[in-house]
Amino acid sequence: MAATLIDGVAIAHELYAGFKERVKALAGRGVQPGLAAIVIGDNPASEAYVRTKARACAEVGVHSVQHRFGADGSEDEVIGLIERLNADPAIHGILVQLPLPLRLNSERILQTVDARKDVDGFNWCNLGAMVAGHPRFSPCTPLGVMTMLERERVAVEGSTAVVIGRSVIVGKPMALMLIARGATVTVCNSKTRDLREYTSRADILIAAAGRPGLVQGSMVKTGAVVIDVGINRLPDGKLTGDVEFASASRVASRITPVPGGVGRMTVAMLIANTVTAAERHAAQSPGR
Ligand code: NAD
Repeated sequence: MAATLIDGVAIAHELYAGFKERVKALAGRGVQPGLAAIVIGDNPASEAYVRTKARACAEVGVHSVQHRFGADGSEDEVIGLIERLNADPAIHGILVQLPLPLRLNSERILQTVDARKDVDGFNWCNLGAMVAGHPRFSPCTPLGVMTMLERERVAVEGSTAVVIGRSVIVGKPMALMLIARGATVTVCNSKTRDLREYTSRADILIAAAGRPGLVQGSMVKTGAVVIDVGINRLPDGKLTGDVEFASASRVASRITPVPGGVGRMTVAMLIANTVTAAERHAAQSPGR
């Protein structure tokens, strides 16, 4: 039996309706959420992501601005801009589009973003708060996956979940969020000896390795929910995930497509975090 598709586009669309209402309520208090994106270098994928995020902002009424630096932009210039944005009351969220050119100290840059405007959830204060079980801003991709699971009414509590990938922006926070919801979680990485041994036990399988075709249908437990976070560009220009969709969808009960799955949710969570940041700002600004 073919798996049911988890449609990230449709879920994101539903969420946007709620964001619009929240933006309208903020307008009544004289606040328009503002998101600043910083792009450094000339990575075409980064440009495409920033355009998508700007379009999503426009759709829900979030003010968005982009700041660009050439590939030779200096670290101090970027830090200076972030400090100005930290102090700008019209900006509630700041995102630094990754990856950054290797010569830049990305930790120094990311950690300069004020934790209250860290809508990507990469500031160590926000990551630490999540580890402690008191999340403030959580990384958008795993947050998007959790929102998808919730919308699809997937039973997370008591499930066996396997996350492939242990990056700070996807794998690790993904595991923490699943743990917080009562799943028993295994995190695999490139050194994992027998990946199949773990994946074949997963009720919820989340692939975030950046390796096209890593997860084949024969590695998936019958009836599993498969979430493909991977975004890989093939030589012919097409996008594909980490999961071999045709074979996995014959075994899984539900599966996300690439594109049209987790990517849409990531953008939606960025908007959600920006609106939340503006709401918190409004709540702390007397007279608004
Ligand atoms: P990363 O390179 O930082 O981390 C990849 C992780 O996968 C590492 O922990 C590595 O150990 C693990 N890994 C690599 N090969 C493996 C293998 N053969 N077996 C098991 N584990 C393996 O990447 P990232 O930033 O975490 O992104 C992962 C993927 O998710 C990429 O394809 C990226 O483009 C995609 N991504 C998608 C979204 C989205 O919105 N859908 C957001 C962020 C990242």
